[in-house]
Amino acid sequence: MQANKKTLIQKFFKKYGYYVGLAISLAVLITIVTIAVTMKPVSEVEENFTPVDTPTISFTSPVTDLTLMKNYSNSALQYNSTLNLWQAHKAVDFAADEGTEVYAVMDGKITEVTYNYLMGNIVKLDVGGGIVVVYASLASEIPVKVGDEVVKGSVIGKVSNTAKSEASDGPHLHLEVLLNGDSVDPALYLDISEK
Ligand SMILES: [Zn+2]
Repeated sequence: MQANKKTLIQKFFKKYGYYVGLAISLAVLITIVTIAVTMKPVSEVEENFTPVDTPTISFTSPVTDLTLMKNYSNSALQYNSTLNLWQAHKAVDFAADEGTEVYAVMDGKITEVTYNYLMGNIVKLDVGGGIVVVYASLASEIPVKVGDEVVKGSVIGKVSNTAKSEASDGPHLHLEVLLNGDSVDPALYLDISEK
């Protein structure tokens, strides 16, 4: 009986062994192909990854020749020769001649035109995306008013020396950028590398 059983199995494999082997090979191949297709290549995964804090907004120059005078510092103190004290400077200052035209860095809406003793004549430009550009130390003749829609590159004011807190620096544009109400480095949106 035992011998017969063995013989039967042997007979079976002798007859169908090739097909059994073929079926197993095929199953393994299908499994491998399925895994390969399901798994995404690493490069593809990386391509689809977008860092959240990378700004896609780019400003045009607020004055024709960008001459960086004072850089942005969120916490590092810089000496203010006018006030004779050290303070953070949450803006960038560009030296320019009195009367130099100041441009809208992007399309936007004028949200504020004010005067402040320390910062002089100020124009605020809302460019969308939570970004507000603050121009300070402007001349008193402001060609825009609150509510005006301006296009990138249009004149929104002229450089002067009206910011009393920075008066000894001479005529310059004090440019501040607010993102959702907090000051951020304008260099995030504007190429201020010294040329
Ligand atoms: Zn300044």
